[in-house]
Amino acid sequence: MSHELTHTCPRRGCTRVVPTHLFACRDDWYALSKPTRDLIWATAYLTPFDPERQAAFRAADEDWERRP
Ligand SMILES: [Zn+2]
Repeated sequence: MSHELTHTCPRRGCTRVVPTHLFACRDDWYALSKPTRDLIWATAYLTPFDPERQAAFRAADEDWERRP
């Protein structure tokens, strides 16, 4: 797989490399609440700098903080 098509899982402390079309590694994705996962999908077309996308990232971080 080409290096450009992957990124590191955004969960703090996680070093798994995942394909660009997936937000996080499988374990961390399913650690998110359903509403947060829906929000991530709903904002996937936005750039990482868009305020709505930023809000989705914050929701994910908050879910992960709550679920060690
Ligand atoms: Zn991860």
